[in-house]
Amino acid sequence: MALALVTGASRGIGRATAILLAQEGYTVAVNYHQNAQAADEVVSLIKASGGKAFAVQADVGDEAQVEAMFAVLDEQPEALTALVNNAGILFTQSRVEALSAERINRVLKTNVTGYFLCCREAVKRMGQGGAIVNVSSAASRLGAPFEYVDYAASKGAVDTLTMGLALEVAAQGIRVNGVRPGLIYTEMHASGGEPGRVDRVKSMLPMQRGGQPEEVAQAIVWLLSEKASYVTGSFLELAGGK
Ligand code: NAP
Repeated sequence: MALALVTGASRGIGRATAILLAQEGYTVAVNYHQNAQAADEVVSLIKASGGKAFAVQADVGDEAQVEAMFAVLDEQPEALTALVNNAGILFTQSRVEALSAERINRVLKTNVTGYFLCCREAVKRMGQGGAIVNVSSAASRLGAPFEYVDYAASKGAVDTLTMGLALEVAAQGIRVNGVRPGLIYTEMHASGGEPGRVDRVKSMLPMQRGGQPEEVAQAIVWLLSEKASYVTGSFLELAGGK
Protein backbone atom coordinates (compact mmCIF):
# COMPACT_ATOMS: atom_id res chain seq x y z
CA MET A 1 0.00 0.00 0.00
CA ALA A 2 1.00 3.61 -0.30
CA LEU A 3 2.50 6.16 2.01
CA ALA A 4 0.76 9.43 2.93
CA LEU A 5 2.33 12.41 4.68
CA VAL A 6 0.02 14.63 6.71
CA THR A 7 1.67 17.78 8.06
CA GLY A 8 0.40 19.06 11.40
CA ALA A 9 -1.20 15.70 12.13
CA SER A 10 -0.78 15.76 15.90
CA ARG A 11 -3.98 17.76 16.44
CA GLY A 12 -7.21 18.98 14.86
CA ILE A 13 -7.92 18.50 11.15
CA GLY A 14 -4.57 16.84 10.47
CA ARG A 15 -5.14 14.32 13.24
CA ALA A 16 -8.60 13.37 11.92
CA THR A 17 -7.19 13.09 8.39
CA ALA A 18 -4.31 10.83 9.49
CA ILE A 19 -6.72 8.50 11.28
CA LEU A 20 -9.07 8.30 8.28
CA LEU A 21 -6.22 7.75 5.80
CA ALA A 22 -4.94 4.88 7.93
CA GLN A 23 -8.43 3.34 7.86
CA GLU A 24 -8.24 3.57 4.05
CA GLY A 25 -5.05 1.50 4.14
CA TYR A 26 -2.33 4.13 3.84
CA THR A 27 0.78 4.03 5.96
CA VAL A 28 0.63 7.51 7.49
CA ALA A 29 3.57 9.76 8.35
CA VAL A 30 2.25 11.89 11.22
CA ASN A 31 4.19 15.16 11.08
CA TYR A 32 4.22 17.49 14.06
CA HIS A 33 6.18 20.53 15.20
CA GLN A 34 6.42 20.54 19.01
CA ASN A 35 3.79 18.27 20.50
CA ALA A 36 5.47 14.85 20.35
CA GLN A 37 3.05 13.41 22.89
CA ALA A 38 0.01 14.30 20.80
CA ALA A 39 1.66 12.88 17.66
CA ASP A 40 2.51 9.66 19.50
CA GLU A 41 -1.12 9.38 20.62
CA VAL A 42 -2.28 9.58 16.99
CA VAL A 43 0.21 6.88 16.00
CA SER A 44 -0.91 4.67 18.91
CA LEU A 45 -4.58 5.13 18.01
CA ILE A 46 -3.90 4.12 14.41
CA LYS A 47 -1.83 1.10 15.41
CA ALA A 48 -4.46 0.01 17.96
CA SER A 49 -7.00 -0.29 15.12
CA GLY A 50 -4.63 -2.29 12.94
CA GLY A 51 -3.26 0.58 10.84
CA LYS A 52 0.29 1.68 10.10
CA ALA A 53 1.73 5.04 11.12
CA PHE A 54 4.83 6.73 12.49
CA ALA A 55 5.54 10.20 13.83
CA VAL A 56 8.01 12.53 12.15
CA GLN A 57 9.05 15.86 13.63
CA ALA A 58 9.77 18.85 11.40
CA ASP A 59 9.04 22.54 11.25
CA VAL A 60 7.55 22.73 7.76
CA GLY A 61 8.79 26.29 7.34
CA ASP A 62 12.42 25.19 7.72
CA GLU A 63 13.94 23.91 4.48
CA ALA A 64 16.57 21.67 6.09
CA GLN A 65 13.99 20.10 8.42
CA VAL A 66 11.60 19.45 5.52
CA GLU A 67 14.39 17.78 3.55
CA ALA A 68 15.29 15.65 6.58
CA MET A 69 11.62 14.64 6.98
CA PHE A 70 11.38 13.52 3.35
CA ALA A 71 14.66 11.60 3.77
CA VAL A 72 12.90 9.63 6.53
CA LEU A 73 10.00 8.95 4.15
CA ASP A 74 12.49 7.69 1.54
CA GLU A 75 13.49 4.93 3.96
CA GLN A 76 9.96 3.50 4.02
CA PRO A 77 9.08 0.45 1.91
CA GLU A 78 6.03 2.20 0.40
CA ALA A 79 6.23 4.99 -2.16
CA LEU A 80 4.85 8.40 -1.25
CA THR A 81 1.63 8.90 -3.23
CA ALA A 82 -0.29 11.34 -1.01
CA LEU A 83 0.54 14.64 0.69
CA VAL A 84 -1.78 16.66 2.88
CA ASN A 85 -0.36 20.12 3.49
CA ASN A 86 -2.23 21.01 6.66
CA ALA A 87 0.18 22.50 9.22
CA GLY A 88 -0.93 26.07 9.75
CA ILE A 89 -0.76 28.82 12.35
CA LEU A 90 -2.42 32.08 13.25
CA PHE A 91 -1.89 34.60 16.01
CA THR A 92 -4.04 36.78 18.25
CA GLN A 93 -6.92 38.66 16.67
CA SER A 94 -5.71 42.05 15.51
CA ARG A 95 -6.36 44.81 12.96
CA VAL A 96 -3.93 45.16 10.04
CA GLU A 97 -2.49 48.44 11.35
CA ALA A 98 -1.22 46.60 14.45
CA LEU A 99 0.60 43.81 12.59
CA SER A 100 4.41 43.59 12.81
CA ALA A 101 6.64 42.39 10.00
CA GLU A 102 7.90 39.70 12.36
CA ARG A 103 4.40 38.29 12.86
CA ILE A 104 3.46 38.49 9.17
CA ASN A 105 6.67 36.70 8.20
CA ARG A 106 6.12 33.96 10.78
CA VAL A 107 2.63 33.28 9.40
CA LEU A 108 3.88 33.24 5.81
CA LYS A 109 6.86 31.02 6.67
CA THR A 110 4.71 28.21 8.05
CA ASN A 111 1.53 28.62 6.00
CA VAL A 112 3.04 29.45 2.60
CA THR A 113 6.75 28.53 2.48
CA GLY A 114 5.95 25.32 4.37
CA TYR A 115 3.32 24.29 1.79
CA PHE A 116 5.70 25.13 -1.09
CA LEU A 117 8.58 23.12 0.39
CA CYS A 118 6.46 20.04 1.05
CA CYS A 119 4.89 20.25 -2.44
CA ARG A 120 8.37 20.53 -3.95
CA GLU A 121 9.71 17.48 -2.16
CA ALA A 122 6.54 15.43 -2.75
CA VAL A 123 6.40 16.16 -6.49
CA LYS A 124 10.03 15.04 -6.84
CA ARG A 125 8.98 11.66 -5.44
CA MET A 126 5.62 11.16 -7.18
CA GLY A 127 7.03 9.74 -10.40
CA GLN A 128 4.33 7.05 -10.54
CA GLY A 129 1.58 9.60 -9.89
CA GLY A 130 0.11 10.97 -6.73
CA ALA A 131 -2.24 13.46 -5.14
CA ILE A 132 -1.78 16.54 -2.99
CA VAL A 133 -4.41 18.33 -0.92
CA ASN A 134 -3.63 21.78 0.41
CA VAL A 135 -5.69 22.82 3.42
CA SER A 136 -6.62 26.44 2.77
CA SER A 137 -9.41 28.32 4.55
CA ALA A 138 -12.66 30.15 3.85
CA ALA A 139 -10.61 33.10 5.12
CA SER A 140 -8.93 33.25 1.69
CA ARG A 141 -12.33 34.32 0.28
CA LEU A 142 -13.52 36.35 3.28
CA GLY A 143 -10.31 38.16 4.34
CA ALA A 144 -10.74 37.66 8.12
CA PRO A 145 -11.13 41.41 8.84
CA PHE A 146 -10.45 42.54 12.45
CA GLU A 147 -9.07 39.06 13.20
CA TYR A 148 -6.10 37.93 11.09
CA VAL A 149 -5.82 39.31 7.58
CA ASP A 150 -2.21 38.06 7.57
CA TYR A 151 -3.51 34.50 8.00
CA ALA A 152 -6.22 35.02 5.35
CA ALA A 153 -3.63 36.34 2.90
CA SER A 154 -1.44 33.29 3.53
CA LYS A 155 -4.40 31.13 2.54
CA GLY A 156 -4.89 33.22 -0.60
CA ALA A 157 -1.33 32.29 -1.48
CA VAL A 158 -2.12 28.63 -0.78
CA ASP A 159 -5.01 28.80 -3.25
CA THR A 160 -2.75 30.28 -5.93
CA LEU A 161 -0.08 27.65 -5.26
CA THR A 162 -2.75 24.98 -5.62
CA MET A 163 -3.96 26.30 -8.99
CA GLY A 164 -0.49 26.85 -10.42
CA LEU A 165 1.03 23.58 -9.27
CA ALA A 166 -2.03 21.61 -10.43
CA LEU A 167 -1.40 22.89 -13.97
CA GLU A 168 2.35 22.25 -13.81
CA VAL A 169 2.04 18.59 -12.81
CA ALA A 170 -1.29 17.50 -14.34
CA ALA A 171 0.42 15.72 -17.25
CA GLN A 172 2.67 13.86 -14.78
CA GLY A 173 -0.34 12.16 -13.17
CA ILE A 174 -0.22 14.26 -10.02
CA ARG A 175 -3.47 15.90 -8.89
CA VAL A 176 -3.41 18.99 -6.66
CA ASN A 177 -6.56 20.23 -4.95
CA GLY A 178 -7.57 22.38 -2.01
CA VAL A 179 -10.11 22.39 0.78
CA ARG A 180 -11.40 25.55 2.41
CA PRO A 181 -12.71 24.81 5.91
CA GLY A 182 -14.73 27.45 7.72
CA LEU A 183 -15.30 27.25 11.47
CA ILE A 184 -14.01 23.92 12.71
CA TYR A 185 -13.79 22.81 16.35
CA THR A 186 -10.02 22.62 16.95
CA GLU A 187 -7.44 24.20 19.26
CA MET A 188 -6.46 26.71 16.58
CA HIS A 189 -9.00 29.26 17.85
CA ALA A 190 -7.21 29.35 21.21
CA SER A 191 -4.10 30.47 19.31
CA GLY A 192 -6.19 33.37 18.01
CA GLY A 193 -7.00 34.30 21.61
CA GLU A 194 -10.59 33.02 21.61
CA PRO A 195 -11.01 29.29 22.33
CA GLY A 196 -14.82 29.62 22.13
CA ARG A 197 -14.86 31.46 18.79
CA VAL A 198 -16.76 28.77 16.87
CA ASP A 199 -19.67 28.82 19.32
CA ARG A 200 -19.72 32.64 19.39
CA VAL A 201 -20.12 33.06 15.63
CA LYS A 202 -21.78 29.83 14.52
CA SER A 203 -25.28 31.38 14.43
CA MET A 204 -24.07 33.61 11.57
CA LEU A 205 -23.47 30.56 9.37
CA PRO A 206 -26.24 29.32 7.05
CA MET A 207 -25.99 25.87 8.69
CA GLN A 208 -25.82 27.51 12.14
CA ARG A 209 -23.19 25.16 13.49
CA GLY A 210 -19.44 24.67 13.51
CA GLY A 211 -17.82 21.78 11.67
CA GLN A 212 -15.96 18.78 13.06
CA PRO A 213 -12.40 17.92 11.97
CA GLU A 214 -13.70 14.57 10.72
CA GLU A 215 -16.01 16.34 8.25
CA VAL A 216 -12.99 18.08 6.70
CA ALA A 217 -10.99 14.85 6.75
CA GLN A 218 -13.67 13.08 4.69
CA ALA A 219 -13.30 15.65 1.90
CA ILE A 220 -9.49 15.48 1.98
CA VAL A 221 -9.47 11.70 1.79
CA TRP A 222 -11.96 11.75 -1.10
CA LEU A 223 -9.81 14.24 -3.04
CA LEU A 224 -6.76 12.00 -2.52
CA SER A 225 -8.63 8.88 -3.63
CA GLU A 226 -9.17 7.35 -7.06
CA LYS A 227 -12.82 8.39 -6.72
CA ALA A 228 -11.58 11.92 -7.49
CA SER A 229 -9.41 10.75 -10.40
CA TYR A 230 -10.57 13.52 -12.80
CA VAL A 231 -10.41 16.33 -10.24
CA THR A 232 -7.46 18.70 -10.14
CA GLY A 233 -6.99 22.41 -9.45
CA SER A 234 -10.32 22.35 -7.58
CA PHE A 235 -11.48 23.50 -4.17
CA LEU A 236 -14.06 22.05 -1.82
CA GLU A 237 -15.76 24.51 0.53
CA LEU A 238 -16.32 23.08 4.04
CA ALA A 239 -17.80 26.13 5.65
CA GLY A 240 -21.42 25.35 6.45
CA GLY A 241 -22.65 27.33 3.47
CA LYS A 242 -20.69 30.56 4.09
P1 NAP B 1 -4.52 23.10 15.20
O1 NAP B 1 -5.55 22.30 15.92
O2 NAP B 1 -4.02 24.37 15.81
O3 NAP B 1 -3.28 22.14 14.87
C1 NAP B 1 -2.19 22.67 14.18
C2 NAP B 1 -1.28 21.53 13.77
O4 NAP B 1 -0.22 22.09 12.97
C3 NAP B 1 -0.61 20.85 14.94
O5 NAP B 1 -0.48 19.48 14.62
C4 NAP B 1 0.76 21.52 15.01
O6 NAP B 1 1.79 20.69 15.55
C5 NAP B 1 1.03 21.72 13.53
N1 NAP B 1 2.01 22.77 13.24
C6 NAP B 1 1.96 24.09 13.56
N2 NAP B 1 3.04 24.73 13.10
C7 NAP B 1 3.80 23.78 12.48
C8 NAP B 1 5.05 23.81 11.82
N3 NAP B 1 5.76 24.94 11.69
N4 NAP B 1 5.54 22.65 11.31
C9 NAP B 1 4.84 21.48 11.43
N5 NAP B 1 3.65 21.41 12.04
C10 NAP B 1 3.15 22.54 12.56
O7 NAP B 1 -5.03 23.50 13.74
P2 NAP B 1 -6.30 23.06 12.87
O8 NAP B 1 -7.45 23.93 13.24
O9 NAP B 1 -6.45 21.58 12.84
O10 NAP B 1 -5.82 23.59 11.44
C11 NAP B 1 -5.27 22.74 10.45
C12 NAP B 1 -5.30 23.46 9.12
O11 NAP B 1 -6.66 23.80 8.84
C13 NAP B 1 -4.53 24.78 9.12
O12 NAP B 1 -3.85 24.94 7.89
C14 NAP B 1 -5.60 25.84 9.26
O13 NAP B 1 -5.23 27.05 8.70
C15 NAP B 1 -6.75 25.18 8.52
N6 NAP B 1 -8.08 25.70 8.89
C16 NAP B 1 -8.57 25.52 10.15
C17 NAP B 1 -9.84 26.04 10.46
C18 NAP B 1 -10.47 25.89 11.81
O14 NAP B 1 -11.54 26.47 12.03
N7 NAP B 1 -9.90 25.15 12.73
C19 NAP B 1 -10.55 26.75 9.48
C20 NAP B 1 -10.00 26.91 8.23
C21 NAP B 1 -8.75 26.37 7.94
P3 NAP B 1 2.09 20.65 17.16
O15 NAP B 1 0.97 19.86 17.77
O16 NAP B 1 3.40 19.94 17.28
O17 NAP B 1 2.12 22.07 17.64
